[in-house]
Amino acid sequence: MTKKLVDSYGRSINYLRLSVTDKCNLNCFYCRSDPGRCTVENTEDEELTVEDYRQISEVAVALGISRIRLTGGEPLLRADIVEIVNAIASIKGMNDVSLTTNGILLEKMSQELSAAGLKRVNISLDSLDESNFRHITQGGRLRSTLTGIECALSAGLGPVKLNVVLLKGINDHEIEKFIRLTIDRDLHVRFIEYMPTAGQQGKWSNYFLDLNRVMEIARSVAPLQEVQGEHGGGPARYYTLQGAVGKIGLISPLSRHFCARCNRLRVTSDGKLKPCLFSDAEVDLRPALGDKKQLELKFREAAVLRTDPLIAACNSGDRSEQCIAKRPMFKIGG
Ligand code: SAM
Ligand code: SF4
Repeated sequence: MTKKLVDSYGRSINYLRLSVTDKCNLNCFYCRSDPGRCTVENTEDEELTVEDYRQISEVAVALGISRIRLTGGEPLLRADIVEIVNAIASIKGMNDVSLTTNGILLEKMSQELSAAGLKRVNISLDSLDESNFRHITQGGRLRSTLTGIECALSAGLGPVKLNVVLLKGINDHEIEKFIRLTIDRDLHVRFIEYMPTAGQQGKWSNYFLDLNRVMEIARSVAPLQEVQGEHGGGPARYYTLQGAVGKIGLISPLSRHFCARCNRLRVTSDGKLKPCLFSDAEVDLRPALGDKKQLELKFREAAVLRTDPLIAACNSGDRSEQCIAKRPMFKIGG
């Protein structure tokens, strides 16, 4: 029996994010608007294949990983995304295959993805206002994402988690509207702090807002209760408004630290295993493809390279420096 994956600091690793592409059909200004970087996308030859994802996931499952999330870029742009889902969901011991998407293609693909074994989706939605949505995504149509949410729910891909990156002066006036979505629908609305990535530092300091503002507004709407045991090892803290059906989630990589309970690794679409979101360390999986023992060694190498949670979880000022990763988020797989 393979020894389970535990990092040098005693944290068990049971969750993997697989990026399947760095391409996207939106250009959210906080993610994909640095022209120097965003025009350079992986070629098809550089992207991992369905078979590569199967092998990586089989090894991950043997090492104790039971949950995998597919992401990107926009994962639904991969022509073979249904095959990828199916290949991973068919692995014995794989309990939960989920996907993060901007939702545009869910109208067309929800049923097929669900039939292939996808359990849940997280959908990015940074504005509920048509023109603000277009502004943030640099051309996207709000209606496509809203329709995608309804199609995902109809296909049984719930509970649907909505990811809202909080941007000062851009969407903070919409916090209450987002919060009110949870009152009569079983949606998990998760506010995320904007993280600085390479080439975005100027933008980051203009638009960063910590999530205390969300708590203040939520408390003014109704009494709030913390939901215990809901984070499933993930970084979100969850709350419900009194009497509400849905939940409010807070993901604060900068103002509150969650490194001590970090349970995850990431694989980029060009085959690099990333031990820590806040570090530029990468382990190249490509040379090990085709050999499960070698792939296992690569996972163990990455576990050793994980950042000390005590160093990573320093004060929030230093943390913004530390967060600046060389790859922008769409190239890591957020
Ligand atoms: N395209 C898909 C989507 O938008 O959901 C999946 C990839 S996207 C990189 C994954 C998540 O990362 C999204 O929720 C997005 O809002 C978030 N994200 C991107 N850049 C970010 C940043 N600089 N700080 C915080 N979250 C970010
Ligand atoms: Fe694309 Fe998602 Fe980045 Fe927006 S956040 S540009 S949808 S990868």
